[in-house]
Amino acid sequence: MNSIKGNYERLNEKLTKACQKSNRRREDITVIAVTKYVSVERANEAIELGIRNLGENRDQEFLKKYEVLGNRAKWHFIGTLQTRKVKNIIDKVEYIHSLDRLSLAKEINKRAGRTISCFVQVNLSGENSKHGLRPDEVIPFIEQLKDYPNIKVVGLMTMAPHIDDETVLRNCFRSLKRLQKEVQQLQLPYAPCTELSMGMSNDFEIAVEEGATYIRIGSALVGE
Ligand SMILES: *Cc1c(COP(=O)(O)O)cnc(C)c1O
Repeated sequence: MNSIKGNYERLNEKLTKACQKSNRRREDITVIAVTKYVSVERANEAIELGIRNLGENRDQEFLKKYEVLGNRAKWHFIGTLQTRKVKNIIDKVEYIHSLDRLSLAKEINKRAGRTISCFVQVNLSGENSKHGLRPDEVIPFIEQLKDYPNIKVVGLMTMAPHIDDETVLRNCFRSLKRLQKEVQQLQLPYAPCTELSMGMSNDFEIAVEEGATYIRIGSALVGE
């Protein structure tokens, strides 16, 4: 396995280039190291390199790592979240990237003793296998979240299709940006929607060029 240090340097070079190309500032983009494939030790190495934001997609694996690493990292829950699992993780995560239904919003609101920063997950690829709301469902969904005061919609999240076609990827990220603007125009106090969680190991440069503020990097950073 490559060293995380080397991976991080390469990632940062590419990020810097993508920022220059799109006239953005590197500090406006947060790298989330997705540690779901790797050991606690490897996750700890990332923290020691100064990577403070870690992402996990399963509650069991997250809790295992949290037990050891605790609040040394800011934890992002990035995977499909079953409603009955909410109570296990809610006190320990900073962000949930996969809010996609009212039953989940209701449970988060009930279990959270504080405001939780959430991303509404959007399915832009139209693939049935992917979770997330259809674009036309996003605004009505967010409007209904007014009943859940512990939920703050900090942004939108998407997973692009697993393909190399740059045009398709770019269009996908642009669509999320466009939706973000629509949400912002609603001016809902609980939905500032200033962030975009998009871009993974194989497409983060395009995502950054199109406005990503959080990128979720697993294989290209900590390994697979
Ligand atoms: C696994 C995962 C990632 C990271 O994937 P890589 O391609 O390894 O960078 C990002 N987001 C989500 C939701 C994931 O499940």
